[in-house]
Amino acid sequence: MPELPEVEVVRRGLERWVSGRVVACAEVFHPRAIRRHAPGAAEFASRLKGRVVGPAQRRGKYLWLPLDGSEAVLAHLGMSGQLLVVESGSAPERHLRVRIGFTDGGPDLRFVDQRTFGHVLVTSMGRSGGRRVPEPITHIAADPFEDHFDEDLFVHRLRARQTEIKRALLDQSLISGVGNIYADEALWRAGLHGARSTGSLTRPRVAALLAAAREVMTDALAEGGTSFDSLYVNVNGESGYFDRSLAVYGRRDLPCRRCGTPIVRESFMNRSSYSCPRCQPHPARDAA
Ligand SMILES: [Zn+2]
Repeated sequence: MPELPEVEVVRRGLERWVSGRVVACAEVFHPRAIRRHAPGAAEFASRLKGRVVGPAQRRGKYLWLPLDGSEAVLAHLGMSGQLLVVESGSAPERHLRVRIGFTDGGPDLRFVDQRTFGHVLVTSMGRSGGRRVPEPITHIAADPFEDHFDEDLFVHRLRARQTEIKRALLDQSLISGVGNIYADEALWRAGLHGARSTGSLTRPRVAALLAAAREVMTDALAEGGTSFDSLYVNVNGESGYFDRSLAVYGRRDLPCRRCGTPIVRESFMNRSSYSCPRCQPHPARDAA
């Protein structure tokens, strides 16, 4: 599944290749891809036609292309979605769901999604977190890279939440864009077990954890620094697209990069959590 750094790479690609162009046509090849666009495929297409696309924006793992300021095309890549910039007229991709063509005859924007968990829609804009964002995502908190991210408010709300710290990191109403992988990496860097209660953390520890989350994602972005000189906006949900150099995630039984203790895997909300039992002592076991 694409995480924030991958989505940011797509955003930069879209900004480079799609910004300022005028939509000539939009075609929908699979209704599931626009299931959140209630008025349907014909309305989706007619609403896009003739619109000028603004610079791509992102909050967490959501991307949008502003349309003349008043509306936007909002996209979520889901598990396997890709937004590709492809030579106009070239053969359709196997899992092509939506194609947007432009009046300049240049490359298309194509939404390709094998598993169809992703979606796109045209929506009006709302406000949230000091910023204009598409209406359907106004309830989602700012991500830690946004200019308007309010760090004091985040620390305060997190400590008041009375939950486990990893759950809080994944809670999109507190902070967006931190997925399972980078939550584990940030917790390892901060030396915290994900089961620690938020109320037990001091403000400086929460601030350090937030800094760690920013760091791991910034590092991932630097590593995945794709060149946009080629035509394709590279992104997909295949893990391994980014050459992630991870410290704990997926490293069960391998030595901790800090202390050499074997990394442990625990199940967590139908997924997995990885941690170092020495650098990140479990709160219950610690107390026992
Ligand atoms: Zn360790």
